[in-house]
Amino acid sequence: MTAQIIDGNAVSRQLRAEVAQRTAALKARGTTPGLAVILVGEDPASQVYVGKKVQACEEAGLHSVLEKYDASLTEAALLARVEALNADPSIHGILVQLPLPRHIDAQKVIETIAPSKDVDGFHVASAGALMTGLPGFWSCTPYGCIKLLESIGYDLKGKHAVVIGRSNNVGKPMALMLLQKNATVTVCHSATADLKAMTLQADVIVAAVGRRNTLTADMVKPGAVVIDVGMNRNEQGKLCGDVDFAAVKEVAGWITPVPGGVGPMTVTMLLVNTLESAEREARAKA
Ligand code: NAP
Repeated sequence: MTAQIIDGNAVSRQLRAEVAQRTAALKARGTTPGLAVILVGEDPASQVYVGKKVQACEEAGLHSVLEKYDASLTEAALLARVEALNADPSIHGILVQLPLPRHIDAQKVIETIAPSKDVDGFHVASAGALMTGLPGFWSCTPYGCIKLLESIGYDLKGKHAVVIGRSNNVGKPMALMLLQKNATVTVCHSATADLKAMTLQADVIVAAVGRRNTLTADMVKPGAVVIDVGMNRNEQGKLCGDVDFAAVKEVAGWITPVPGGVGPMTVTMLLVNTLESAEREARAKA
């Protein structure tokens, strides 16, 4: 059996087209969704990421502001900028690109973002809303994985989902989202005694580890859906995920490639969250 590929680029294109349509409709009613992106320092990967986010906003018709600061920016100055953006009515989403320089407490910065503008979904209020099932912003990467599952019409109800990884930005919110969709969820991590025994029971596997070949073909039940969040480099410097794609695709029913799977969805869900923030605000004003 060869798995069907879940094409993150195609799903992203469709969702971004929907965002563009809804943005145009909102603009016609007087509100332009706005995203502020703050970058502190010169980290090359961060520069690429923020560039992609700003470009995606422009392409979908959202207003975006990129604020770049020297790595010597003080924590107090950054907190003051976040507070000013909290109060800025043209901004509906605030994203502070991580990692921040070591002298700045990233958690403190995230907690300063108004939860109503926390489109990255990293604020404790967003995490708490996800945990309790209240409205709030879902963090973009796991939210993108849910959209990929929806794109193939996959009903998670009663399915066994195994998440490998328990980080605050991917693994844990992923598990909670799958739970909210009525899957039975197992969360694995570096201290899991027998990872293969867990993954072999899974109807859906989400790998979010950051280590190549964590999931091999012998660990996958035939027909399972495999979502690969990992972003690693192989010996040739080529981007690859956590899954041994070539072998696992011969066992799985559905699989996401790397690149072209989860990656494009993260920026897409940032646009969706920013638009939804603006739509909520427009509804509240009406
Ligand atoms: P992270 O914070 O380093 O978390 C990695 C998780 O994997 C931890 O929970 C760790 O367990 C677990 N782990 C490590 N070795 C393991 C093993 N041998 N077996 C089982 N679990 C193991 O990383 P992250 O931020 O969640 O990111 C994970 C991967 O996704 C990275 O490659 C990252 O680049 C990628 N990523 C991609 C996107 C995207 O847009 N596509 C977005 C975010 C992240 P412990 O908790 O026990 O240490």
